[in-house]
This record gives sequence, C-alpha cells and structure tokens, in this order.
Amino acid sequence: MALKTVQEYVDSLAAMKRNIWFQGEKIEDPIHHPLLIPSRKCLEKTYELALDPQYEDIMTATSQLTGHKINRFNHIYNSTEDLNKKTKMQRLMGRVTGSCFQRCVITDMANALYPTTYKIDQKYGTNYFERFKKFMIRVQDEDLVIAGALTDPKGDRGVKIGSDQQDPDLYLHVVERRPDGVVVNGAKCHLTGITNAHEVVVLPTQAMRPGQEDYAVGFHLPLDAPGITMIIGRQSCDTRKMEAFADIDPGNTRFGGVEAMVVFDHVFVPKENLFLNGEVDFAGMLVELFAGGHRNSYGGCKSGVGDVVIGAASLMAEYNGIEKANHVKDKLVEMTQLNEQLYACGIASGTEGWKTEAGNYMVDLLLANVCKLNVTRYPFEIIRLMEDIAGGIMVTAPSEADLRSKDIGKYIEKYLVGHNVDAEDRLRVLRLCENLALGTSAVGYLTESLHGAGSPQAQKIMITRQGQFEEKKELAKKLAKVKEEK
Ligand code: SF4
Ligand code: FE
Repeated sequence: MALKTVQEYVDSLAAMKRNIWFQGEKIEDPIHHPLLIPSRKCLEKTYELALDPQYEDIMTATSQLTGHKINRFNHIYNSTEDLNKKTKMQRLMGRVTGSCFQRCVITDMANALYPTTYKIDQKYGTNYFERFKKFMIRVQDEDLVIAGALTDPKGDRGVKIGSDQQDPDLYLHVVERRPDGVVVNGAKCHLTGITNAHEVVVLPTQAMRPGQEDYAVGFHLPLDAPGITMIIGRQSCDTRKMEAFADIDPGNTRFGGVEAMVVFDHVFVPKENLFLNGEVDFAGMLVELFAGGHRNSYGGCKSGVGDVVIGAASLMAEYNGIEKANHVKDKLVEMTQLNEQLYACGIASGTEGWKTEAGNYMVDLLLANVCKLNVTRYPFEIIRLMEDIAGGIMVTAPSEADLRSKDIGKYIEKYLVGHNVDAEDRLRVLRLCENLALGTSAVGYLTESLHGAGSPQAQKIMITRQGQFEEKKELAKKLAKVKEEK
C-alpha cells in the first residue's frame, strides 16, 4: 500500500500511545482534542488530495526507490520539474488550508539526507545511504507523516557547544554508547506537525567541529518511543477552539498548525536508526541542504496562504462597500504583486535546481535563500494592507456568543451588517482576517515566515556565501579597465 486513505491515517495515529501535553495536562485522547483536530485536518488534506484524480499529478509522484506511486511529501526529487511540482503542491495546500499544513519538513530533510548519507559513506565506509533508503521506502509505502526536529533550545548562544555549555543537554547529544545503539538526551523546539506525525527524524541544528562528535547525531524514531514527551506551544487565541461557541471566533475553524517542544529524556536509538553518528564534518552539509530545500518550500506554502489573505481582503472590501475605490484596488494589486514574487522565487529556485552526486535534485541555494528572505518581509506587508482594508472592527467585533445571545444578538445582527451581507458572514470573514493577522494562523503566516527554516540572518549568511562577490568584482573591473597590479 503506498497511499493511505484519511481514515487509515487517523486510525494509524489512534493506535499509537503518544505522550502529548497542553497547559500542564496530558492529552489522553489526542485524536479528539479540539486543539489538535484542526492541525490533523491539514494533514488529512494531504491524504485526501493525493487520492483525488484532479490533483494526482501534483500530490503524488513515482518513487525512484520502488517505482510505486507515493505521496509527493515523501518523495526524493528526480528533476527540476519535480521540484517545481513540490512548490505547486505547497501553494495548493496553502490555498486549501489557509494554514501551515505541517508535512513538508520530511520532504526537505529526505532530500538533504539522501545526498549527505551518500557522501558520508564514500568518506567513512559507513552504510547510512542504504539504511536511509530502506527507511524512506517504508515511509513511502506506508504513507507515513514524518516530523523533523532540528532546533535545539541552545541556552546561551554566545558559548560553544560542548564543554563551555552551562547545561550540555541544551543541545541534544549522545550520553551513552552501547553495542546496539546510543542513548540521547536533550530537547528540540518549534516542531511543526509533530503531534500528528508517526515518526520523527532528528538532525543537528548547525555545523559541528571536531570535539563535538556527541552532538553530531541524526536518527529516526517512532513518536511513541519511551522517553519522548511532546509539550504543545501556546498560540495567540488558541483556546478559542475549546470554547462553547467555536464556529466563528477561531477564524479558521477547519484548519490550523500546531508546534511543540519535544523532550528526549535518555531515549534509546537503535543502531539501525542512525543516519549520523559523530561525523562532525557532515553536519554542516545536512543543515545547509535541508535549509535550502525548506527555504524554497516557503515560496509555495506562504504564497498559498497569501491567496487566502488576498481573498479575505477582497471580500472585506466588498462587504464594506469600498471595492471600487481606486486606493483599495491599488492595495489588492500590491498584495498580489508581493505574493506572486514569493511564488516566482520558489519556482525559480526549483527551475535552477541541480543534480547531486547521489542522483536526487536540489534547489538553487542562492535563489532559495533569497526566496526565504523575501518571505521574512512580504507577508507582513500583505497583512498590513489586509488590515487596512478590513478596518478596526477586525479586532473590536463582539463574540459569537454575543451574536447567539437571545438578549443582545439582535443588536449585533442590526449594527454589524455590511454591503449586501448579514452580520454573521461579515463577522466570519473579519475573524478569518484576525486569525491570519493575530491568531493561530499568524504563527504560520507571520512568525514562521520570519523564523521558520532559519531567521533572516541565516539567509543573509548563505547569500553572502553564494553571492559570488569576487566574480562580480571582476565583472566591474573589466568594464572599468582596472589594472590588476599597480
Ligand atoms: Fe510546509 Fe510551509 Fe508549514 Fe514549513 S511552514 S511545514 S513549508 S506549510
Ligand atoms: Fe516551517
């Protein structure tokens, strides 16, 4: 079986005994918890659309490992066209969910692990590449959701990993080596979609040096492995999903993203699950390739959510009776221009992709980093323009409970009408705007745009490396007829 149905996915999650916490309490039934349902619905969509003939070309791919038809989120990319289909899939998913849909980390990790494990084996005679391929074949054939874990808590960023660290566990590391595997201790933060995933791939957060071998560790584990605890992060307005009236106020009532901090408390990792075990010189390659792939991904997902933001702004213009005003049209055009620039950069970095020694395709790293650096800015401007059009009522409107009140509901219905729209539908779109700008969806659309796949400075470092300034100096020198030696 290479494509699961939605029901099979939900059943497979329900069969796991996972250790998930929210607000100081263990969630005993994650499948039916109101905070986790919208997050899982996003992942369900990745299964549903893969089985929809209309989206088959974008949502599925043929595995070069097996020849089987698989979900594209679990694919190793074979061509630049394949890379662009990833971007198109992500835009589609962003449009449908209006949210971070949480399944992309493995796609970008797998395409970084594939060439890196190949290179490690060449240098050290290990067998990580075969091990990784075997893992991916299972992931593809069982259509699993695999979360990724890179970011360590870090503590004081000014000290070196290892001996200078006030608490060595602030970076996940090996604390015991056994003949059959290793024991790791530490935590990973901001883990997108992990509460609805089957397994996790853990990788180092940054390049490593000799002496940091215990920290250069990469592996996969099922998320019900002993010693793993997931602690859900709070999001602005998150408990609106748990209120008695939860059909309007959450804004996006169907979908949403969830992140968690995951603690690995002396967790045993069997030898056959390891993809990196002390090869410090390859941690940097892994991180650089993963980050490049994931920075490309943002050109797809954020432009998809951007389409929803632009749609919500256009609706508010209509409901407020101002859609024909020139300044409003101008704002909608500007939002579209910015949004399409994000998409264009995602497509460009895929189109200019290259073949690795292992045979898979990697995005152009300069363009992928430029793509992500644009993502750290444009969605904020797009949201500013949306708020401008929606008006202050976006944050001052009464609640759904007031609308439903038999005593005061009539006032809401009377005073919150708009142009050809009743109060309820106007409120629904206002809450969607609020959710995208300030609520749970703002986590994915704004803060994640800034910090996800690395904060802006990380992209600037990569752009500095990839910018070929020396070569560009030569171009200028030639035209200016600068003499080489004075
Ligand atoms: Fe996918 Fe975008 Fe969410 Fe990353 S931020 S997991 S690329 S939807
Ligand atoms: Fe992300």
